[in-house]
Amino acid sequence: MTVIRNYAQADAYLGRKAERPLPGRATRIRRVNDSTIAIRYHDTDVVTYQADGSALLNTGGWRTLTTKDRMNTYGPKSVAIWQERGVWRVTVRGENGAPRYTTLFRDGLIVTPTGDLATSINAPHGPVISRKAVGKFASKMVKAWLDGTLEAPNTGDCWFCYLRDQSGTPMGDATGQHDHLAEHIRDGYLVPSLLKNAVIAHGKEKFSEFDRDLIARWWAGEARPDDNFTAGIIRYTGQRIRAAIIAYFSHRFEFVD
Ligand SMILES: [Zn+2]
Repeated sequence: MTVIRNYAQADAYLGRKAERPLPGRATRIRRVNDSTIAIRYHDTDVVTYQADGSALLNTGGWRTLTTKDRMNTYGPKSVAIWQERGVWRVTVRGENGAPRYTTLFRDGLIVTPTGDLATSINAPHGPVISRKAVGKFASKMVKAWLDGTLEAPNTGDCWFCYLRDQSGTPMGDATGQHDHLAEHIRDGYLVPSLLKNAVIAHGKEKFSEFDRDLIARWWAGEARPDDNFTAGIIRYTGQRIRAAIIAYFSHRFEFVD
Protein backbone atom coordinates (compact mmCIF):
# COMPACT_ATOMS: atom_id res chain seq x y z
CA MET A 1 0.00 0.00 0.00
CA THR A 2 1.16 3.48 -0.83
CA VAL A 3 2.38 5.46 2.12
CA ILE A 4 1.31 9.11 2.10
CA ARG A 5 2.48 11.15 5.05
CA ASN A 6 3.94 14.33 3.59
CA TYR A 7 3.70 16.69 0.65
CA ALA A 8 6.30 14.90 -1.48
CA GLN A 9 4.55 11.55 -1.15
CA ALA A 10 1.15 13.15 -1.76
CA ASP A 11 2.48 14.98 -4.80
CA ALA A 12 3.95 11.77 -6.26
CA TYR A 13 0.68 9.90 -5.69
CA LEU A 14 -1.42 12.61 -7.36
CA GLY A 15 0.88 13.08 -10.33
CA ARG A 16 -0.96 15.31 -12.79
CA LYS A 17 -4.35 14.55 -11.32
CA ALA A 18 -6.23 17.11 -9.27
CA GLU A 19 -7.90 14.49 -7.16
CA ARG A 20 -7.77 10.73 -6.45
CA PRO A 21 -9.77 8.44 -4.19
CA LEU A 22 -8.02 6.76 -1.29
CA PRO A 23 -8.82 3.46 0.44
CA GLY A 24 -11.65 3.70 2.93
CA ARG A 25 -15.03 5.33 2.80
CA ALA A 26 -15.46 8.97 1.69
CA THR A 27 -11.72 9.59 1.59
CA ARG A 28 -9.75 11.25 -1.18
CA ILE A 29 -6.65 13.25 -1.86
CA ARG A 30 -6.90 16.56 -3.69
CA ARG A 31 -4.68 19.36 -4.81
CA VAL A 32 -5.71 22.66 -3.21
CA ASN A 33 -3.14 24.88 -4.96
CA ASP A 34 0.45 24.83 -6.25
CA SER A 35 1.92 24.21 -2.83
CA THR A 36 -0.93 22.57 -0.93
CA ILE A 37 -2.45 19.08 -1.03
CA ALA A 38 -5.16 17.83 1.31
CA ILE A 39 -6.55 14.53 2.52
CA ARG A 40 -10.27 15.00 2.60
CA TYR A 41 -12.70 12.89 4.59
CA HIS A 42 -16.30 13.69 3.69
CA ASP A 43 -16.24 17.52 3.53
CA THR A 44 -13.27 18.16 5.78
CA ASP A 45 -9.58 18.46 4.90
CA VAL A 46 -8.38 16.44 7.88
CA VAL A 47 -4.71 16.57 6.87
CA THR A 48 -3.30 19.40 4.73
CA TYR A 49 0.30 19.21 3.47
CA GLN A 50 2.34 22.24 2.51
CA ALA A 51 5.22 22.04 0.07
CA ASP A 52 7.52 23.42 2.79
CA GLY A 53 7.01 20.16 4.71
CA SER A 54 4.55 21.35 7.32
CA ALA A 55 1.10 19.85 7.84
CA LEU A 56 -2.18 20.99 9.33
CA LEU A 57 -4.56 18.69 11.23
CA ASN A 58 -8.22 19.55 11.55
CA THR A 59 -11.33 17.53 12.47
CA GLY A 60 -13.77 20.22 11.32
CA GLY A 61 -15.58 19.51 14.57
CA TRP A 62 -16.01 15.80 13.77
CA ARG A 63 -14.08 14.00 16.45
CA THR A 64 -14.90 10.53 15.22
CA LEU A 65 -12.88 7.32 15.22
CA THR A 66 -12.55 7.48 11.42
CA THR A 67 -11.32 11.08 11.48
CA LYS A 68 -8.69 10.06 14.02
CA ASP A 69 -7.81 7.01 11.95
CA ARG A 70 -7.32 9.12 8.79
CA MET A 71 -5.07 11.54 10.68
CA ASN A 72 -2.97 8.68 11.99
CA THR A 73 -2.75 7.07 8.55
CA TYR A 74 -1.94 10.21 6.55
CA GLY A 75 -0.60 12.65 9.12
CA PRO A 76 3.13 13.25 9.68
CA LYS A 77 4.75 10.14 11.11
CA SER A 78 6.11 12.05 14.12
CA VAL A 79 2.64 12.51 15.62
CA ALA A 80 0.09 10.04 16.96
CA ILE A 81 -3.41 11.04 17.96
CA TRP A 82 -5.23 8.99 20.54
CA GLN A 83 -8.14 9.22 22.88
CA GLU A 84 -8.48 8.66 26.59
CA ARG A 85 -11.87 8.95 28.27
CA GLY A 86 -13.14 11.11 25.45
CA VAL A 87 -10.17 13.48 25.50
CA TRP A 88 -8.05 13.67 22.33
CA ARG A 89 -4.31 13.81 22.84
CA VAL A 90 -1.35 14.02 20.53
CA THR A 91 1.99 12.36 21.19
CA VAL A 92 5.07 13.63 19.39
CA ARG A 93 7.79 11.10 18.63
CA GLY A 94 11.48 11.67 17.91
CA GLU A 95 13.52 10.37 14.97
CA ASN A 96 14.03 7.05 16.73
CA GLY A 97 10.29 6.65 17.29
CA ALA A 98 10.48 7.19 21.05
CA PRO A 99 7.74 9.44 22.49
CA ARG A 100 9.00 12.92 23.32
CA TYR A 101 5.89 14.54 24.77
CA THR A 102 2.10 14.42 24.82
CA THR A 103 -0.31 17.32 24.81
CA LEU A 104 -3.99 18.01 24.16
CA PHE A 105 -5.10 17.72 20.57
CA ARG A 106 -6.74 20.80 19.16
CA ASP A 107 -8.06 21.67 15.76
CA GLY A 108 -5.68 23.65 13.61
CA LEU A 109 -2.68 21.80 14.98
CA ILE A 110 0.37 22.55 12.83
CA VAL A 111 3.20 20.04 12.53
CA THR A 112 6.43 21.72 11.45
CA PRO A 113 8.76 20.30 8.74
CA THR A 114 10.95 18.89 11.54
CA GLY A 115 7.97 16.95 12.92
CA ASP A 116 7.45 19.13 15.97
CA LEU A 117 4.26 20.96 16.94
CA ALA A 118 4.22 24.64 16.02
CA THR A 119 4.50 26.85 19.10
CA SER A 120 1.42 28.74 17.94
CA ILE A 121 -0.63 25.96 19.55
CA ASN A 122 0.12 27.66 22.85
CA ALA A 123 -1.59 30.82 21.66
CA PRO A 124 -4.53 31.97 23.77
CA HIS A 125 -7.10 30.78 21.22
CA GLY A 126 -6.41 27.20 22.35
CA PRO A 127 -8.17 25.48 25.24
CA VAL A 128 -6.40 27.29 28.02
CA ILE A 129 -7.98 28.28 31.29
CA SER A 130 -6.98 30.18 34.40
CA ARG A 131 -5.75 27.90 37.17
CA LYS A 132 -7.04 30.36 39.76
CA ALA A 133 -10.51 30.50 38.21
CA VAL A 134 -10.74 26.70 38.21
CA GLY A 135 -9.67 26.58 41.88
CA LYS A 136 -12.28 29.17 42.85
CA PHE A 137 -14.98 27.39 40.89
CA ALA A 138 -14.11 24.04 42.51
CA SER A 139 -14.25 25.64 45.97
CA LYS A 140 -17.68 27.16 45.27
CA MET A 141 -18.95 23.86 43.98
CA VAL A 142 -17.78 21.96 47.05
CA LYS A 143 -19.14 24.62 49.40
CA ALA A 144 -22.59 24.31 47.79
CA TRP A 145 -22.34 20.53 48.02
CA LEU A 146 -21.44 20.77 51.73
CA ASP A 147 -24.19 23.32 52.40
CA GLY A 148 -26.74 21.07 50.75
CA THR A 149 -27.64 23.82 48.27
CA LEU A 150 -26.28 21.91 45.26
CA GLU A 151 -29.09 19.86 43.78
CA ALA A 152 -28.54 16.23 42.82
CA PRO A 153 -27.70 15.72 39.10
CA ASN A 154 -30.86 16.17 37.04
CA THR A 155 -32.11 16.89 33.51
CA GLY A 156 -32.02 20.61 34.24
CA ASP A 157 -28.21 20.42 34.21
CA CYS A 158 -26.07 21.37 31.25
CA TRP A 159 -26.72 18.50 28.83
CA PHE A 160 -23.11 18.16 27.79
CA CYS A 161 -22.42 17.39 31.44
CA TYR A 162 -25.59 15.43 32.18
CA LEU A 163 -26.17 13.20 29.13
CA ARG A 164 -24.04 10.13 28.55
CA ASP A 165 -23.44 7.98 25.50
CA GLN A 166 -23.83 4.19 25.53
CA SER A 167 -20.39 3.66 27.03
CA GLY A 168 -21.21 6.06 29.87
CA THR A 169 -18.98 8.87 28.59
CA PRO A 170 -20.44 12.33 29.25
CA MET A 171 -21.76 13.87 26.01
CA GLY A 172 -19.25 16.74 26.10
CA ASP A 173 -16.34 14.30 26.17
CA ALA A 174 -17.93 11.95 23.63
CA THR A 175 -18.21 14.79 21.13
CA GLY A 176 -14.92 16.41 22.10
CA GLN A 177 -16.58 19.64 23.16
CA HIS A 178 -15.18 21.29 26.25
CA ASP A 179 -16.27 24.88 25.67
CA HIS A 180 -19.27 24.36 27.95
CA LEU A 181 -16.88 23.67 30.85
CA ALA A 182 -15.12 26.99 30.31
CA GLU A 183 -18.51 28.68 30.10
CA HIS A 184 -19.62 27.16 33.41
CA ILE A 185 -16.60 28.74 35.06
CA ARG A 186 -17.19 32.07 33.35
CA ASP A 187 -20.87 32.07 34.35
CA GLY A 188 -20.25 30.67 37.82
CA TYR A 189 -22.78 27.97 36.96
CA LEU A 190 -22.41 25.15 39.48
CA VAL A 191 -23.46 22.07 37.49
CA PRO A 192 -24.32 19.11 39.74
CA SER A 193 -23.50 16.60 36.97
CA LEU A 194 -20.06 18.16 36.57
CA LEU A 195 -19.21 17.32 40.18
CA LYS A 196 -20.39 13.76 39.65
CA ASN A 197 -18.42 13.42 36.40
CA ALA A 198 -15.27 14.70 38.10
CA VAL A 199 -15.63 12.14 40.89
CA ILE A 200 -16.17 9.30 38.40
CA ALA A 201 -13.29 10.43 36.17
CA HIS A 202 -10.97 10.62 39.18
CA GLY A 203 -11.05 6.82 39.31
CA LYS A 204 -12.04 4.04 41.64
CA GLU A 205 -8.68 4.10 43.37
CA LYS A 206 -9.26 7.71 44.45
CA PHE A 207 -12.92 7.38 45.44
CA SER A 208 -13.87 3.97 46.84
CA GLU A 209 -17.34 2.47 46.78
CA PHE A 210 -17.74 3.79 50.31
CA ASP A 211 -16.80 7.31 49.22
CA ARG A 212 -19.19 7.27 46.29
CA ASP A 213 -21.98 5.93 48.42
CA LEU A 214 -21.35 8.62 51.01
CA ILE A 215 -21.36 11.32 48.32
CA ALA A 216 -24.66 10.03 46.89
CA ARG A 217 -26.29 9.78 50.34
CA TRP A 218 -25.09 13.24 51.30
CA TRP A 219 -26.59 14.59 48.10
CA ALA A 220 -29.89 12.85 48.82
CA GLY A 221 -29.89 14.45 52.28
CA GLU A 222 -29.51 11.08 53.99
CA ALA A 223 -26.12 11.48 55.54
CA ARG A 224 -26.23 14.56 57.73
CA PRO A 225 -23.51 14.64 60.34
CA ASP A 226 -24.75 14.09 63.88
CA ASP A 227 -21.30 14.10 65.38
CA ASN A 228 -17.92 15.70 64.82
CA PHE A 229 -16.48 12.52 63.37
CA THR A 230 -19.00 12.31 60.49
CA ALA A 231 -18.73 16.05 59.90
CA GLY A 232 -14.98 15.61 59.59
CA ILE A 233 -15.33 12.82 57.04
CA ILE A 234 -17.71 14.94 54.97
CA ARG A 235 -15.37 17.91 55.04
CA TYR A 236 -12.43 15.70 54.07
CA THR A 237 -14.49 14.20 51.22
CA GLY A 238 -15.26 17.75 50.09
CA GLN A 239 -11.54 18.54 49.86
CA ARG A 240 -11.00 15.47 47.71
CA ILE A 241 -13.93 16.38 45.47
CA ARG A 242 -12.34 19.79 45.01
CA ALA A 243 -9.10 18.12 43.89
CA ALA A 244 -11.10 15.88 41.51
CA ILE A 245 -12.79 18.89 39.89
CA ILE A 246 -9.45 20.61 39.36
CA ALA A 247 -7.99 17.40 37.88
CA TYR A 248 -11.03 17.10 35.62
CA PHE A 249 -10.30 20.51 34.14
CA SER A 250 -6.55 19.91 33.94
CA HIS A 251 -7.18 16.90 31.68
CA ARG A 252 -9.20 19.00 29.26
CA PHE A 253 -7.47 22.38 29.35
CA GLU A 254 -4.02 23.73 29.77
CA PHE A 255 -3.74 25.83 32.89
CA VAL A 256 -2.30 29.30 32.76
CA ASP A 257 -1.64 31.50 35.75
ZN1 LIG B 1 -21.54 21.34 30.93
